[in-house]
Amino acid sequence: MDIYFYNTLTKEKEKFEPINGKEVRMYSCGPTVYYNAHIGNLRAYLFMDTLRRVLKYNGYQLKHVMNITDVGHLTSDADEGEDKMMVAAKRENKDPWEIAKYYMDAFFKDMESLNIEKPEIIARATDHIAIMEQYVKKIIENGYTYQTEDTIYFDTSKVPDYGMLSGKKIEEQKAGARVEFDKNKKNISDFALWIKAPKEHIMQWDSFFGKCYPGWHLECSAIGYQYLGEQFDIHTGGIDHIPIHHENEIAQSIGFSGKIPAKFWMHVNFLKVDGGKMSKSLNNLYTLKDLKEKGYEPEVYRMFNFNSSYRSAINFTWEGLEANLKALQKLKEGYQKQAEGTEDVEDNIIHNFEEKFHQAINDDLNMPLAMSVVWDVIKYPIKSKKLAKLLKKFDTVLALNIDKQTENTKHENPEIPPEIIELAEKRKQARENKDWQQSDKLREEINNKGYNIKDSKDGYEITKN
Ligand code: AMP
Ligand code: ZN
Repeated sequence: MDIYFYNTLTKEKEKFEPINGKEVRMYSCGPTVYYNAHIGNLRAYLFMDTLRRVLKYNGYQLKHVMNITDVGHLTSDADEGEDKMMVAAKRENKDPWEIAKYYMDAFFKDMESLNIEKPEIIARATDHIAIMEQYVKKIIENGYTYQTEDTIYFDTSKVPDYGMLSGKKIEEQKAGARVEFDKNKKNISDFALWIKAPKEHIMQWDSFFGKCYPGWHLECSAIGYQYLGEQFDIHTGGIDHIPIHHENEIAQSIGFSGKIPAKFWMHVNFLKVDGGKMSKSLNNLYTLKDLKEKGYEPEVYRMFNFNSSYRSAINFTWEGLEANLKALQKLKEGYQKQAEGTEDVEDNIIHNFEEKFHQAINDDLNMPLAMSVVWDVIKYPIKSKKLAKLLKKFDTVLALNIDKQTENTKHENPEIPPEIIELAEKRKQARENKDWQQSDKLREEINNKGYNIKDSKDGYEITKN
């Protein structure tokens, strides 16, 4: 069956065919390991995982590379601000190597608990400094750079189509830029490839330009080239990567080999919380640990992500998560009924369900539609082991452990309605803001609705009156 993916490069849904027959070569921008991944970050890797599983469902083998950004890069994509790894190192009084190791391990734990498969090749930036250096040298040889006393810059004006992913021309970027223009740059969109390290910079390497460290965009181009060659099939990342990071990766590859590195560019949209941005100051930057503490296993969050296309923004609320917990419980119960079924079901019915599911996932990973087929199978009036087998096959894409009863079926507070949880959350927020008056008002409101709230070490406990 044909597969169609939306390609950010052409802004169209296109038929997908790998360059090398049955093997798909794919690259995903990995995490910067200086903090615990929040559930927004994890949405990006759930998308990556679903893509992998859909390709496998279609019989493809994968050669998939993901980098780990463990060398500091500057705070914003556009080379402004303080180095992220250094900020974390200072914050936690550790050296950047320890920070990287700690948060990389934490990231893999999160991946595992979400059932996200590890890409075939995991490449730490710090293990690939030599290939980055070679890469820069070739770009210099090819005439795409200029240098100041301490930095080698990429000259984006040398790439006539620079801005091809976001559709932004260099001049527009200049007009829209909020950051101060670095006087050493010839064009606002130029970026650092190779930078001389000041003495206090802990991560630095000997090179043709003295003791240096690489610009952030470089690692993805050099690592992609090392394992996948000059051109491969798919490149993935979050939508925030489109206007700078991925434009710059393309520019670097053109400077290096004259080629755009990937045929398909796929981008996952953002997770919002309560309709807005996630941020520390709003105290809504949740991790998997926060979800677990409230009784939601990672599988519930996986299921939550199937309610929307990866290309749409998705809004996280506790009520939404609660609804998905209930749905997941029903799904697993429904599977059990089919697994215990003794009736027969006609082959053409199975075939029809299978076709519909396959068409949905092959249509740019339409998971909401795929889930509606799953529900049709679950609710099918005939109960048959054949349907259970089909559901298990679908679960190779869903990865919800459909045949296993897990912790999430024993949610501690199944009786507490979302409305009460919302009030409790608001109260928690008020307490954190030391707004005791508001906190008392909310407690009263909760009491009037027939529930009791008690503060605990981890937040609060709610019981029915
Ligand atoms: P970082 O570790 O900051 O490089 O981010 C890792 C990945 O998470 C990137 O692919 C980002 O695009 C993605 N990301 C960051 N915030 C969100 C969010 N709120 N929703 C979805 N993806 C996000
Ligand atoms: Zn990247």
